[in-house]
Amino acid sequence: MDIYLDANATTPVLPQAREAALAAMAEDFGNPSSIHGTGLKARALMDGVRDRARRVLGAEGGRLLFVSGATEGIQTAVLSALLALRDRVDRPALLLYGATEHKAVPEALQHWQALLGLNMQLLAIPVTRDGRHDLDWLRAHAPRAGLVCTMAANNETGVISDLDGIADALAGSQALWMVDGVQALGKLPLALTRRRIHYAPFSGHKLYAPKGIGLLYVRDGAPFTPLLAGGGQEGASRAGTENMSGIAALGAVLSALEDGRTFADAATLTGLRDQLAAALRDAFPSLVFNAPPALCLPTTLNFSVPGVSSRQLLDLFDAAELRVSGGSACSAAAARPSEVLTAMGLPAWQAASAVRLSFGPATDPAFIAEACARIRGCGQALRDSGQPVAGLTRFVVDGACCYALADTASRRAVVIDPLPELTERLSRWLGSQQLTLAAVLDTHSHGDHASSAAALWAAVGQAPGDVDALGWPHAAAALALGERSITRLALPGHTQDSTAYLLHDATGLRHTFVGDTVLPGALGRSDFPQSAPLSYAGSLQRLAQAVGLHGLLLPGHDEAGALATTLAVECAAQPLLAAALAGRLDAVGLAQAKAQLEQDLAPTRYQTLACGARVEPDRPADAVELSAPALRALFAAHPGLRLVDVREPYEQCLGLRPALPGSCVVEAVPLGGLPDALSRWLALPAGTPVVFFCRSGNRSAQAARALRRLGCVQAWSLAGGLALWPRAPASARDAALAI
Ligand code: PLP
Repeated sequence: MDIYLDANATTPVLPQAREAALAAMAEDFGNPSSIHGTGLKARALMDGVRDRARRVLGAEGGRLLFVSGATEGIQTAVLSALLALRDRVDRPALLLYGATEHKAVPEALQHWQALLGLNMQLLAIPVTRDGRHDLDWLRAHAPRAGLVCTMAANNETGVISDLDGIADALAGSQALWMVDGVQALGKLPLALTRRRIHYAPFSGHKLYAPKGIGLLYVRDGAPFTPLLAGGGQEGASRAGTENMSGIAALGAVLSALEDGRTFADAATLTGLRDQLAAALRDAFPSLVFNAPPALCLPTTLNFSVPGVSSRQLLDLFDAAELRVSGGSACSAAAARPSEVLTAMGLPAWQAASAVRLSFGPATDPAFIAEACARIRGCGQALRDSGQPVAGLTRFVVDGACCYALADTASRRAVVIDPLPELTERLSRWLGSQQLTLAAVLDTHSHGDHASSAAALWAAVGQAPGDVDALGWPHAAAALALGERSITRLALPGHTQDSTAYLLHDATGLRHTFVGDTVLPGALGRSDFPQSAPLSYAGSLQRLAQAVGLHGLLLPGHDEAGALATTLAVECAAQPLLAAALAGRLDAVGLAQAKAQLEQDLAPTRYQTLACGARVEPDRPADAVELSAPALRALFAAHPGLRLVDVREPYEQCLGLRPALPGSCVVEAVPLGGLPDALSRWLALPAGTPVVFFCRSGNRSAQAARALRRLGCVQAWSLAGGLALWPRAPASARDAALAI
């Protein structure tokens, strides 16, 4: 069973709302503009719902329009206000909106002011650390404001605005005031008419009504311009035949609000939220809540866990069929820090790893108890996944790569290119695997930041011993790591001290950590003061001699998610490299050509640095997605195909497991282990398909594309991931997935 904890994004439709909608479609289907009996019934229904909404919202006067949702309500309000402002001779200078407003508001302000040719200054009202508007700032700017937009409660944090404080700050100002009431509907008494609010938009689907129905309140006397003109519906305020099934459903929800039986009161909801908060603290003891609970809706929790990204937490929760959200739903596809939390002045890590848990007021205690049990299970799964990981693990921060090599027999590890952001995570990872550090190596000294090797040594409570500036033990020819060993190869060019580390195992050379000397689609730039451009060509030749054209190279940066590369692949993409290796460009020729290429390269910015001039054109992404039927067909043609589960161990132990025919080989290789596993798949008999799958299809598509780039044309990703994979009948939690 799904535990849906994303009510601030949308809610399911209440059973009585569903019934009301169906009745409005099947029986009372009239058009409220018709004057016959069927139409009159529809109008009576609509008028009844409007009256109920007026009572619930405290909107005794003014217009209360049925609209399609808050976004439409916001457009109508903004258009109305801006048109009135345009016509004023003494037009105020400012348009103000809360810095944590849903983006429908600033986007609408920008859009309509551009269309209307207005040139007012758009300013965000800052919020304090607790997420509330800075009222002193607002008071100071209110006299020059034409329109002020402030939400009643925030969708990401649940922070409730101090509407009376805002009204007070606006006292004496001529400004029109819009309050986005979306997250407050049914949760806070809004008293729209008593307060000086001019416009208030709402969406039904945030409170158990279907999508496509909403309300807009417009105060008596506030400027108004219809967004839609046409058949004169809603007193010519909003044309278009009314969404009667939506209105009927909304009416049922409003009835439920009035009858006091369906929705829990604030004290009960606070108790449920406290249970969730306690379960979260048990599961993730280091967690921090991102907004003060006392100032928030009792149905919303927003938190971050140090060292665990919101993406990781979402994957973990989703594997337990707990549906939560990272930041706001609209930006779920992009892994950007939450703008709301950034505006509140929270540290970058907190804004980038936030997770939101929200439930609706119709939630019952049994549901919350199950949610708490699953949350605790997630914490346990995360802790249990610290089992020893043999071999190589890659960690990535903003495209910069760090590698950790572990030998479980000797319990020793080597870290290559440590990153400061990873110090805590790596030291915890090493601790959980009971590994001691054998070496921390840098592939080059960085112009823009000091190596974080010292910090890592300090964090694990060890000392580096007698090592050189890049961390290599003085006088050692090789570093032994169980059955593996590492040697080094000087490759001056990107920097004078650039070095590759070659990893050997019983079968020979396995991987080469090349730092920035050869990157996917680029050669490392050599225009730094510490670069050695004239040495670059010789270094490339030496690298080719040592690793061959097909040896796997693991780069220091991997913006495009290539995972690994080879000189052969890069020669095809980079003419300069091909020319240098073929001897068509000598040391001076390569240095000159590189200098020309790099002359417009932006200065480096730490971790998002332009560490080389990318010459590989961005090709349209390979179509690697396989539908379920296509996978079945592929399997019939290639019974020996490989299936690779790229979910993290904690997801695998919580989540669905595919039930597959006996001959099907399934490997579990989480994202960090992919670079190490590539060589295994590349060594498979030609034409053997390798099909990756994960929860949603993103990570598996990255893996498939990376393998394709290395020449495996039969690399695929299961489209939509396990989320869309047809389940076996009678799906239990552990349901088998039939191929
Ligand atoms: N305002 C707030 C605070 C919201 O949370 C949302 C939806 O997430 C909206 C406006 C936009 O609502 P809709 O997409 O239903 O039009």
